[in-house]
Amino acid sequence: MGNITKQLRGKCKHFTGTVEKQCKAGMVYDEVIKRKELGDIGCMLRLPCTGKAVGSITRDNAVLPCDKYCAFTEAEIEQEQKDWDRTLELLIKGLSPCCGAEIDTSHVITEGKHKGHGQRFCSKCHKVVFIV
Ligand SMILES: [Zn+2]
Repeated sequence: MGNITKQLRGKCKHFTGTVEKQCKAGMVYDEVIKRKELGDIGCMLRLPCTGKAVGSITRDNAVLPCDKYCAFTEAEIEQEQKDWDRTLELLIKGLSPCCGAEIDTSHVITEGKHKGHGQRFCSKCHKVVFIV
């Protein structure tokens, strides 16, 4: 927790994680990794988004190129780190990272075996801040 600089270095800024079907630049992951042509086995190893060198091989899978690959610049990494630090600072104080408003805990379960679980909302914009 805290330092995200290392995680961002080399990573494509369009990458959204592979739970999504495509990235922010509109590239479909299955097409980037040629899932249809090359098969499922080790397909994630062919993904260039996390900053692995194109052509480098892990367990018979070479990292494939992507036209939209665009790594974070050092300045952007610095900015992301600042934003993240601010987010953590606010959360530690019990404030929402979006507005700096108080966190609304009225939906949190107060009894029974799920005590403490539930969604936390921003009291100002009502966005979900986090779920426990
Ligand atoms: Zn808010």
